[in-house]
This record gives sequence, structure tokens and C-alpha cells, in this order.
Amino acid sequence: MNNQEHFKQKLIVLKNEIGQRINAIDKDIRHEGMSSDWTEQATERENDEVLESLGNASEQELSMINKALQRIDSGEYFSCSAFGEDIPEDRLESLPFTTLCVNCAEKYKP
Ligand SMILES: [Zn+2]
Repeated sequence: MNNQEHFKQKLIVLKNEIGQRINAIDKDIRHEGMSSDWTEQATERENDEVLESLGNASEQELSMINKALQRIDSGEYFSCSAFGEDIPEDRLESLPFTTLCVNCAEKYKP
């Protein structure tokens, strides 16, 4: 297995995990039979907000993974998307969906 294939497998595993997480969150949000108790309803709504932001973060992660998979297919995966320098493999090992080298990630940190 070459390195590209290694990272591709890694991303696919991650993608499946996040897909399952999103499904679980969706299921939790669509809980049937809202409680008839008002205080409990309020708690459930608060809970939903937490779940929703969690869901949004997961969706974002998923789109980054899809982008990384596209970068593998187009052969850009090991190049920084800002200036095209090499992204070290140990960085990709811990952050498989990053598109920037350490220097650029530091520079463009929000
Ligand atoms: Zn860079």
C-alpha cells in the first residue's frame, strides 16, 4: 500500500465514523413523543441546540474529509493548498483532512 492509499483508507474510516455520528445526532434530534412536562420540554430543547451545533461541526468535518479525498484523487493531497509546499506526513497522520502546512495554518489561523 503506498502512502496515498494509506491516507485514503484513513479518511474513509473517518468518514464512516462521522457519518454514523451524524446519523445518531439526527435520530436524537427527531426524538418522538416530546414530554408533556413543560420543564422537561425546555430541557429537551436546550439539548437539541447542543446536538445541532454538534451536528453542524460534524457536517463541517465531513466536508473537509470529502475535500481531502478529492485532493488525493487529484494528486494534491501532499501539497499545501496555499503555496504548494509539501505537507509532512506526520502532520497528515494526526490531521488527515488538513489542506495547509504548519506554517500556513499558523498564518491563516482565524
Ligand atoms: Zn503552506
